[in-house]
Amino acid sequence: MQIRLAAPLQPDSIVDGEGIRAVLWTQGCHHHCKGCHNQETWDFNGGYLVDVEDIKKEINNLQGQDGITLSGGDPMFQVDACLEIAKYCKELNLNVWCYTGYTFDQLLSLKNPKIIEFLNYIDVLVDGKFILEQRSLDLKFKGSENQRVIDVPNSLKEKKVVLVEKYLGRKEYDMKKRTTVYL
Ligand code: SF4
Repeated sequence: MQIRLAAPLQPDSIVDGEGIRAVLWTQGCHHHCKGCHNQETWDFNGGYLVDVEDIKKEINNLQGQDGITLSGGDPMFQVDACLEIAKYCKELNLNVWCYTGYTFDQLLSLKNPKIIEFLNYIDVLVDGKFILEQRSLDLKFKGSENQRVIDVPNSLKEKKVVLVEKYLGRKEYDMKKRTTVYL
């Protein structure tokens, strides 16, 4: 099986999810959000094809990473390959974050068994299109107010969207502590 990527696996990211993460930039996105920062990832014939087995080897060789983030593009358009990669990450005890332009509810309503299975291997899903008019630089791990940082295992269990509470707040700079805090 192959996956179409926009860029090589990128380790040591601290902005694409909690902790230190390796990011897999998938190629291809139909959502075409106005103001998207990754428009070069829209073309489904762009980027390049890689064997999933080679990506697994790269993941296995990673050092000092807390987890993997599947981003893009939209990983949901290559769900078979992303499912294989997410399963492998779990075997290695790496947590899995995924960014998608679909909302969680839309994903469920697609009734695609592979997407449902993929969700079962995702810890945190950042969902929804990027909406330029709702853009904010004060949000943690998302670009616009409408997007949600979702606790996927609990959402599947509760059968409703459960947000990751610690990322609900807005960013502020604490002058006394000289650090960024989330209120
Ligand atoms: S879903 Fe993401 S990659 Fe796709 S157009 Fe929207 S912001 Fe860009």
